[in-house]
Amino acid sequence: MSQKIVIIGAGFAGLLAALSAARLRNEKGVSPADLTITVVAPEPALIVRPRLYERDPASMTAPLGELFAATDIDFRAGWVDTIDAGKGVISLKGVDGAAEMLPYDRLVVAAGSHGFQPPIPGLADFGHSVNDRAAAVALDKHLQALADRPASPARDTVVVVGGGFTGIEVATEMPDRLREILGQDTPVRVVIVEHGPCVAGDMGDEPRPYIEARLRELGIETIVGSGVSGLDEGGVALDDGARIETDTVIWSAGMRASPLTAQLPGERDTLGRVLVDPDLRVPGAPHIFATGDTAKAATDDKGNFSLMSCQHARRLGAFAGHNAAADLLGEPTLPYDQPSYVVCLDLGPDAAIFTRGWSPRTVEITGPEAKKVKMEVNRVWIYPPAAERAAAFQNAFEARTVDF
Ligand SMILES: Cc1cc2nc3c(=O)[nH]c(=O)nc-3n(C[C@H](O)[C@H](O)[C@H](O)COP(=O)(O)OP(=O)(O)OC[C@H]3O[C@@H](n4cnc5c(N)ncnc54)[C@H](O)[C@@H]3O)c2cc1C
Repeated sequence: MSQKIVIIGAGFAGLLAALSAARLRNEKGVSPADLTITVVAPEPALIVRPRLYERDPASMTAPLGELFAATDIDFRAGWVDTIDAGKGVISLKGVDGAAEMLPYDRLVVAAGSHGFQPPIPGLADFGHSVNDRAAAVALDKHLQALADRPASPARDTVVVVGGGFTGIEVATEMPDRLREILGQDTPVRVVIVEHGPCVAGDMGDEPRPYIEARLRELGIETIVGSGVSGLDEGGVALDDGARIETDTVIWSAGMRASPLTAQLPGERDTLGRVLVDPDLRVPGAPHIFATGDTAKAATDDKGNFSLMSCQHARRLGAFAGHNAAADLLGEPTLPYDQPSYVVCLDLGPDAAIFTRGWSPRTVEITGPEAKKVKMEVNRVWIYPPAAERAAAFQNAFEARTVDF
């Protein structure tokens, strides 16, 4: 009887998990009929989430159908709602709404993350985000429609809440994008509101001055040490009672792992990620691996852990898929490791910053040179491989073995 690997999610982690499992199956000469690999996700496409802060977010998707066909990976369109670890079965709703049960021998949970929305008055009604494609497309439509409104300080102002990586990337896009929509002479205003003591708090002391200088150069204001207490149609209220008149608030203040993680045993971190074993297995559920944004895994023996990042999701996915297949094929599983960590942060039309290391982060490149790297990352590196078997298996192998 055939054995079944089921992978929830077709993001960076899910795709690399599927390709890595298929690669090992191929290497061991096992037929796809004897070991099936099935990806379950709403659509057979990779949503290129790291690009959702850019123009035309609707286009930030890469089809996966031909790649799956070339590598004998099955695809099931649907939305998983329950995981029954005891019975080894998941239930899903197909795109037509029909419920279905899918048994597995090994399950890889790669269902990603979503933006965190605290219960702040008005946030659900008036807040925008770039955390998922639907939200980014809605923001894009909203920005385009601003041109139909009469000029006003509120129309010409964008407030970005959260001065972390995503907040900075979306804020530094805004001045140019607003001028394109509203006219080059429009006095556009972009404000980052950050409740911590500084923007780019995670970046550390060496990179931060360059980022702050770049924000000043683009005319982006920063308000630090203050949170947001409410949003309404025409503005945003800050904790200290101040108000900013704005038609556009972009919420970039935190992510949470897929709610499916709550159905798994074991410990979770404050982001909802499962604290996984070295081979990415879920403690207490020996047939389930968690990966990508749903997993918190040690990257090395120096106390560093994976982040909710594409960089980690790709490699975590490659290990999880390999290990799920290895476990069924009687091969030893491999402990995940990812010694190098780099950040390439976009800083608007002609600049970025590239850093290496965890703490301290050392600045390697800035300005237009770093922007070239960022464009290469966003437009080439993170896209799926060609729909060709050998190239796809090589891509999966490199995702697990090649360090930055
Ligand atoms: C605006 C933005 C900028 C970013 N910039 C960077 C960056 O510069 N560098 C970087 O490294 N990272 C960046 N990230 C983070 C990066 O995009 C994520 O860490 C990465 O997408 C995680 O990959 P994943 O495969 O774990 O999850 P995802 O990419 O979120 O994929 C999850 C998959 O699971 C599917 N899914 C979810 N729930 C279910 C369900 N119940 N049933 C079936 N399928 C389900 C989804 O449809 C999707 O296919 C950025 C993110 C955003 C939003």
